[in-house]
Amino acid sequence: MIRTRFAPSPNGPLHLGHAFSAIVSHDRARSSGGEFLVRIEDIDGARSRQEFVDQALEDLAWLGLEWDAVPVRQSARLAAYADAEQRLRAMGLLYPCRCTRAEIATAATEQGPDGPIYPGTCKHRDIDPAGAAWRLDVNAAMAQVGPLEWVDEIAGSQTARPDRFGDVVLVRKDDPASYHLAVTLDDAADGITVVTRGRDLFEASHVHRLLQALLDLPVPVWHHHPLLVEPDARGNRVKLAKRRGSPSLADRRKSGEDGIALATALRDRRLPAGISLE
Ligand code: GLU
Repeated sequence: MIRTRFAPSPNGPLHLGHAFSAIVSHDRARSSGGEFLVRIEDIDGARSRQEFVDQALEDLAWLGLEWDAVPVRQSARLAAYADAEQRLRAMGLLYPCRCTRAEIATAATEQGPDGPIYPGTCKHRDIDPAGAAWRLDVNAAMAQVGPLEWVDEIAGSQTARPDRFGDVVLVRKDDPASYHLAVTLDDAADGITVVTRGRDLFEASHVHRLLQALLDLPVPVWHHHPLLVEPDARGNRVKLAKRRGSPSLADRRKSGEDGIALATALRDRRLPAGISLE
């Protein structure tokens, strides 16, 4: 059975881009008689707020979306992240790193999908692991599992290239796990068969495919949908963001707008002036 999810981070209000993403994910499941889940990605304890969790669930209900289980919260899954970290460490694939962002920016010679590629500075150093971040030795990990493929329902078959990111951080200094580790473990634990999310996270799936192979997790298919974009101050088309004035779903809801009608408009790709799908 198909099972999809919408996985908001409760560090701000949802906007139209989130509504589109949730609808795509919900409809992908329902059109095949499948299930749709909501997961609260509240691993970033400093920025997550209960107010945004409550608001997000009200927004989704207002759009007419129904989910099939009580939403899982990442903050309840820390033991699973620690266990996976131990396994990767026992495989000799993690190393501690104390480099700052500024140090990496200065030392890096290449850009990856997520910014400068970590030049491996701490890999051969003797680092005190207490309070350090832990990075995945991507080349050693790839050598261990061999070539990997993954499938996106829109973009087709992909050869996994996690090395494009360099040695990603899997355990942060201040947080129990990185986005990459938490989302990969959660999608497996939740039995997600189609990972539906925006195109901005397409490249991250290369890393997630590698983690699935290392941790013996089931391999879903992916569905990276186009993004709602709007012009920024310089006229570039960028993802919607509250700080540029995109109204939040909560504002629309509280002003009396009809959520079901909004969901229908998004399904029909009738978008507000200035906003397009790319
Ligand atoms: N929590 C992430 C976000 O709000 C989405 C993660 C995902 O869909 O994989 O951007």
